[in-house]
Amino acid sequence: MKVVRSRAEFAAARLTVVGPVGLVPTMGALHAGHEALLAAARADCTSVVATVFVNPLQFGPSEDLARYPRTLDADLAMCERAGVDLVWAPGVEDVYPLGDPLVTISPGSLGSVLEGAVRPTHFAGVLTVVAKLIGLVRPDRAYFGQKDYQQLALIRRMAQDLELGAGIVGVPTVREPDGLALSSRNVYLSPDDRREALAISSALSAGRDAARGGASAVLAVASAVLADAPGVKVDYLELRGPDLGPPPGHGPARLLVAARVGTTRLIDNVEVSL
Ligand code: AMP
Repeated sequence: MKVVRSRAEFAAARLTVVGPVGLVPTMGALHAGHEALLAAARADCTSVVATVFVNPLQFGPSEDLARYPRTLDADLAMCERAGVDLVWAPGVEDVYPLGDPLVTISPGSLGSVLEGAVRPTHFAGVLTVVAKLIGLVRPDRAYFGQKDYQQLALIRRMAQDLELGAGIVGVPTVREPDGLALSSRNVYLSPDDRREALAISSALSAGRDAARGGASAVLAVASAVLADAPGVKVDYLELRGPDLGPPPGHGPARLLVAARVGTTRLIDNVEVSL
């Protein structure tokens, strides 16, 4: 496995990458969820490129950029175990050599609902860095987690709308044995927070299991579980279609939640069959 830092080192190493090339973009603090993306890329592709970059553009002014966990040595060990060929861990100046970009990608109407309603600049930051990484790495396929379902939906749509030439692959959410979705932000949870946070995944699975009663039953059952957890402050609980449009009367839908537990904001979602 080759590890490079600067943009020049990456450009030189990129020449040795042969196709099909799989790209796994991450912000580091890697866990078993990221490992599943790396494994999917390893299974599909001849070369696997992972990036480790905490992208300032996707953090709002009051968000956790400065305290975001950084664990590069452990991240490299995980990439090595997962059979990654090339890791690029650039600095901010390597990704944004001209400073803050003048031209960014607008997520459109899907960027201002759900997560976008609470984090108004987030998805423009995500889409801009993902478009840049796809332009720099030129992968055949890029891998993203269903854990960040709205992000995945927007990236898929961007790849189509802007003809980026990379296939976008969604990988199912990896969970703790008790159901909590793995997240780099789980390290912020105190033991009490961790217990309370379980209500998030429990609400989603209870909602999914109530699907025979239709959309209103799904939402009622999930809200009741969340209402029983006083330490969980819900930002939204919504049922939508698979592309995040209105939920269908019948067929696949997505139940999405965001909530604050202590000082930590967590998101999760599940597929629901209406
Ligand atoms: P991040 O480092 O948080 O930006 O995440 C990098 C990628 O890993 C994103 O595509 C996430 O959706 C994905 N990811 C994060 N947590 C999980 C998880 N628990 N299961 C599957 N994928 C995940």
